[in-house]
Parts: sequence; structure tokens; C-alpha cells
Amino acid sequence: MSNATKLIHSIPVDPLTGSISVPIYQTSTFVQEAPGENKGYDYARSNNPTRAVLENIIAELEGGQAASAFASGLAAIDAVVKLLQSGDEILAVNDIYGGAFRLFTHIYAKFGIKVNYVDTTDVVNVIDAINSRTRLVWLETPTNPTLKISDIEAIATIARQNGALLCVDNTFASPALQQPIKLGADIVVHSATKYLGGHSDLIAGLVVTRTKELGEKIKFIQNASGAILSPHDSWLVIRGVETLYLRVKEHSKNAQKVAEYLTGHPAVDKVYYPGLKSHHNHDIAARQQSAYGGIVSFSLKTDSAEAAKLVVCNTALFKLAESLGGVKSLLCHPATMTHKSIPAEIRRAAGVSDSLVRLSVGLEDVSDLITDIGHALSIATQTYDKVQSAITLAN
Ligand SMILES: *Cc1c(COP(=O)(O)O)cnc(C)c1O
Repeated sequence: MSNATKLIHSIPVDPLTGSISVPIYQTSTFVQEAPGENKGYDYARSNNPTRAVLENIIAELEGGQAASAFASGLAAIDAVVKLLQSGDEILAVNDIYGGAFRLFTHIYAKFGIKVNYVDTTDVVNVIDAINSRTRLVWLETPTNPTLKISDIEAIATIARQNGALLCVDNTFASPALQQPIKLGADIVVHSATKYLGGHSDLIAGLVVTRTKELGEKIKFIQNASGAILSPHDSWLVIRGVETLYLRVKEHSKNAQKVAEYLTGHPAVDKVYYPGLKSHHNHDIAARQQSAYGGIVSFSLKTDSAEAAKLVVCNTALFKLAESLGGVKSLLCHPATMTHKSIPAEIRRAAGVSDSLVRLSVGLEDVSDLITDIGHALSIATQTYDKVQSAITLAN
């Protein structure tokens, strides 16, 4: 059976009524027959039937044994870090999601958890940096926003040999394109806000684990800390995920065409897309992903934040907003938006240049998207040149 068929039919028909849509159990508690005697549910922070359906669907989709649904992607990441103790270390990809960097730096550093950032695109850097205190290796692949690719299978082996867990933030690829647990990862996290939800209408996170035991630890942390996903938002993710394969396939096709268009554009310096043969580690992406996803980033020949701002303010279809993975195309300027909390020198060293623009290529007709971005690029170039010559004249 194909994965798309399996996914659609992993969403159960309600055994009580035959309802083809999963019921939303909007309740705080469950009536018990006697103390401790219940139908598997006692209090809705600990468990909720609608949330449980979502968790089962995602566990199956990622090839894991258990999953937990959280109020946001960051709450999911936070739960994984809570597996650690003071004195433990994390080895993390240097081009990490800004919110994860902020959580590690401003919350967990003060509890004695240290993070070493390395360029994980080269396995040798991981071998060099891992040490006896490393308890967790943290990967994003592709990364946000420069779409760097790391070799999950090789890094899983290194982590295991050193007694560390490997966690992969699979938000950008989604399980439709990449299943890190099958490549040896212990934990997968998601911002379900993005491709799993898929419609820019909710905030949600997921943790999936290779084993039941690790899943129980995450469930314990979830119940103890309380950052659960609501029944209604669980239902929205179920509704979104039904079309995951269809959407992600189409996002990938559109993104490939946009990336190829940008590659030939005179105002564009670098294009970052794992589906381009020129992409560093394209061969690894081709091995571990079935397609390359909907995110494309590019920098300008004029490497200035002002020039990039002119681009992002002059599109009509690409809406200027943080977030990604929805039906509607979005774009953003990472240096002043999503990656603002990362110090400029660390940000630039990770390849997030001042003029970098990130596109979340949506499901509109791709020729309309290409016209839109082309138009914005020419307005931006003309305006920037005019302003520069005015400045030169004034001086
Ligand atoms: C958005 C995002 C997150 C954070 O998820 P929220 O749902 O916004 O809390 C984590 N990782 C990646 C790669 C993301 O894009």
C-alpha cells in the first residue's frame, strides 16, 4: 500500500458513531466508574481522545513507536531538552531555528546545559566536537533558512557510538519527504504549525520517538509541564495532514521551478535549494529525501538589508510574514525577522547574509509566482540604484 493511502486510512472512523471525521472531545475531565477505574482517560491534560488520534497518526507517519502533541513547536523542543540534566551538553547544527537558539541560550544555559554549535554538513565536524558530556545531538535538515543538508544516517551512528540521542527537527522536509527515525534518529520534532497543519491556521508541535520507553518519558514531561495541544487544534492538524503528500509534492515542484528561475536572475547572488545540482550536499539530500520541499532562499548581488527589504515589500502574491508551509506563498527577511535574536556575527557565519530572502513557495500556479518575484526584484533593483545615485550626488 502506498504511503498516501496508509496515511489517509490511519485516520480512524469513530467506533462509537461511525463519524468519518474524528470527533473533537472538548472536555476537561472524564467520569470514572470507581476511583482509578476509567475508559483509559482521566484528565484532559494527561490525555485526550482527539489528541491521541493525532499522536497515533504522526507516530505511524514518522515510523516511530510514540508521539506527543504540544501547544507549539517550541514546546515540543522544550520537552526534548527536559530529558537532560544540568551538566549535560547538546551538540547542535549551527544554522539552527532562531527560537531554538533563544530557548537554549536564554532559558537552558542558566540551568547548566551547554550547547556547542557546529557545521554538521560535514560529518567530520561532528566527530571532532562530540564528547563524553554530549547527551543530545540536534539536527535540522534542511535548515532554516539556508537549506543546509546533514547526513542523518552517518550522524545517527556517531551519536549512538557516543551514547548520545539524535533528535532531528523535521519541520522543513515533513515525514512525506524524509523519515529520520528510519535513518537511525531517536527523536523527531515538528513545528506542526508548518507543513503538517499546512494551512497557516494554527500553532502546534510534535515529538515522535523511536521507542515506547522514550515516548513515555516525553509523555511524563508533557503531563508534568502541561504544554498540551488543544482538542480543536489537534483536529485541525488531523484535517491538514490528510492532504500532506499531495501538498508537499506540489510545494516541491513549484519550489524547484522558482529556484531554477532565480538561479538565472541577474540581481540574485546565491540560491539555496537542495533540489539544485549545485547545492552543497545535493547528493545527500537526494539519498535521504524523496523530494526537496517548498522553501527556497536567495541572496542579492547587492548584499544589503535595505535592498532585501525592497524585495519583500514589493511582491503581491508572496505575503510578508514569518512562518512557512501553508497553501499561500509567504516570504520573509530572516536577518530582521526570524533570525533577529541571533547576534549578527553568528548569523552571518552560519550563512544568513544581510540580503537573504526566504520564500515559502505555496500552491498557487507557479508561473504567477515567478512573475510576482521577478516584478519585485526589478522594482527593488531600480529603487535601490536610484537611492544610491541620489546619495552619491548629495555627497
Ligand atoms: C517554526 C519552527 C519551529 C518553532 O515552531 P512553533 O510552532 O513556531 O513554536 C521550530 N523549528 C523549525 C524548523 C521551525 O520552522
